[in-house]
Amino acid sequence: MLFEDDPAMKETIASVLVPVAVPGAYTYRVPQGVTVVPGSIVKVPLGPREVLGAVWDGEPDAAINPKKLKLISHVFEKARPLDDELRRFVDWVANWTLSPPGMVLRMVLRSEEALQEEPPVPGVRKLEGRAPERMTPARQRVLETMQEGLAWTKSGLAHAAGVSASVIDGLLQQDVLEVVSLPAAPPPPMPQVDFAETKLMPAQQVAADGLVASFDQGSAVSLIDGVTGSGKTEVYFEAIAEALRRGKQALVLLPEIALTEQFLRRFEQRFGTYPAEWHSEITTKKRGRTWRGVANGDVRVVIGARSALFLPFVDLGLIIVDEEHDGAFKQDDRVPYNARDMAVVRGHLSRFPVVLASATPSVESRVNADLGRYTRFELPERASGAALPELRAIDMRNNGPDRGRWIAPELLEAMKETFADGGQSLLFLNRRGYAPLTLCRTCGHRFQCPHCSAWLVEHRFQNRLVCHHCGHSETVPKTCPSCNATDSLVACGPGVERIAEEVESLFPQARTLILSSDLPGGPERLRREMKVVEEGGADIVIGTQLVAKGHNFPKMKLVGVIDADLGLAHGDPRAAEKTFQLLAQVTGRAGRVTGGGRGFLQTYSPDHPVLKALMSQDRDAFYTAEIEARRAAGLPPFGRLAALVISGPEKMAAEGYARALVRAAPNEGAVTLLGPAEAALAMVRGRYRFRLLLIAPRQFDLQGYIRHWLANVPKATKGLRVQVDIDPQHF
Ligand code: ADP
Ligand code: ZN
Repeated sequence: MLFEDDPAMKETIASVLVPVAVPGAYTYRVPQGVTVVPGSIVKVPLGPREVLGAVWDGEPDAAINPKKLKLISHVFEKARPLDDELRRFVDWVANWTLSPPGMVLRMVLRSEEALQEEPPVPGVRKLEGRAPERMTPARQRVLETMQEGLAWTKSGLAHAAGVSASVIDGLLQQDVLEVVSLPAAPPPPMPQVDFAETKLMPAQQVAADGLVASFDQGSAVSLIDGVTGSGKTEVYFEAIAEALRRGKQALVLLPEIALTEQFLRRFEQRFGTYPAEWHSEITTKKRGRTWRGVANGDVRVVIGARSALFLPFVDLGLIIVDEEHDGAFKQDDRVPYNARDMAVVRGHLSRFPVVLASATPSVESRVNADLGRYTRFELPERASGAALPELRAIDMRNNGPDRGRWIAPELLEAMKETFADGGQSLLFLNRRGYAPLTLCRTCGHRFQCPHCSAWLVEHRFQNRLVCHHCGHSETVPKTCPSCNATDSLVACGPGVERIAEEVESLFPQARTLILSSDLPGGPERLRREMKVVEEGGADIVIGTQLVAKGHNFPKMKLVGVIDADLGLAHGDPRAAEKTFQLLAQVTGRAGRVTGGGRGFLQTYSPDHPVLKALMSQDRDAFYTAEIEARRAAGLPPFGRLAALVISGPEKMAAEGYARALVRAAPNEGAVTLLGPAEAALAMVRGRYRFRLLLIAPRQFDLQGYIRHWLANVPKATKGLRVQVDIDPQHF
């Protein structure tokens, strides 16, 4: 296991996994008088630094001269050791993604602050049988506000009683109140299983009963495949209730934080309290509380982004992945993992149920349900009884708008009707900013990112040209930097800001709102604005893909897709699937509660199978055709894919190394190796990128093949890097 007692040395050693990109655990000495167990969280010296780490499984290297070993510098004795299941999960993810296990551990041990209990805060309490020398109305209010025995923080009390802090100081001086110490944060209230049960529709009830039954089936995976607005959330709330009844913790993964606000309110209505949140916008302090609460069991339900999967739950018994098809569950950098797939793995390792939910499931999950690996629950109708929106394609080749305009007359007409009826419209365009390309009319100069092979996108509110890949930005110049012409820069193509401009000129009386993740004000503003839309405080909404996800906007009647072809041009084998999902989701925002929803898709290829399938509302036909195409091409889930991205600061060197890798690839008939080709983004952040693609049969051990291959190639030098991406999502 981990340490070895050598009576002669009177010392023990332990393997410690550190959160850096090295192949495995290192051996350290354990200080005398200290005990560690597998999973103990420690601090160790590493080179010139001190880093967090965890005592790991596997024999420490007893052959190393103990004198050369460094000493564990600190053991976090109050922190619960990472349990066996979590350690197995970390190892599994590392193995699957071909990432160093320390890099996976880094997603568990994020900061030292999370490990330390917050110090108590000072508070005040009433002393028995004491009264102030002189009673004033303010003092009276303070004493009435305080109940017998209860302690308050000074500021909380001053606020509640409506007095200044000096009134409380006065009472303290006269020994009417005393100072006590309070825990920094009381444990959060428990969700109540029976707070307000929802009366489910028959199809929902069948699904809910099935999910409850799955708790007795070990690591069962269920797929709730239900159209937009069918009440999937209510169904999986019943699975959460069951987990709580069984004394287990539950985790809900959502793809987008802007979604959580509405989710939190619905959760509160059902369970009487809010779940803990976990995503990048949470303050360090709150994160620390949630991390500790999850580990000590005070926190029962977490709603979070993909990284919540690595929280140290003491007794996790259910994971729900809502909008399971969403690409945001895939992390592309560092450890490239898909949280949906890893959630299934975590459920499998710890033998608890996992629930996937979507109105447009991934092809992978559909196939798994077809094959009986997952249990499918279908919700074919909206909970409100409302019909799905009626969809129409607008052929932009004949029926498009005038030059320099983006909204076709037919869509405009429908928007006018909707506005006149007091309904909301949504215009969808998956492009942030004002215009995707700026050029000089005089000399043809195009504004390109100096670090990436990408155009700079104009953001008019900020008056800047921004690279969406590396964040580089510059102010929009007055003159062309190439020919010095003035007034000759033109914006080409639309982004959401430009559509908003057009809407404002067409509907000056309407309340318009842009929902895009990059606008000033950040996620807070976005959440507020989502709520404004939900409550009917906007007439026309212009949004990026952010609005496609799960929201319930009761007054939304019309959805117009500005460019339905946008996602179809990609060379990505999932382009059709992704476009179908996005467009079905975004048009699914229309008429969710009242029915009568309409959707318009502006397109130059109205006969494309994806658009045809959408128009006919025939989801099954789309999936059947797409699944057959994947099967025929040996693509996921029938085959396995992996990408190797070779990048470096010099183009020649990167390409040369990619070629050397191909030459060194082990001969294996089952593997098709494509490339090297320039990656879709040939340069990002000053690094040139070449890509190799591997396709193999489903049963083939692709990780084993890649591991063997990379172990036997010359080491990358001169800043070259090889990134392996198992089951890549982007090309
Ligand atoms: P989905 O997640 O499937 O798109 P939601 O769970 O958001 O759908 O539900 C859509 C709407 O229907 C919500 O306003 C929800 O409150 C309502 N709803 C769901 N189930 C019921 C039910 N059994 N009775 C009444 N309203 C319901
Ligand atoms: Zn850039």
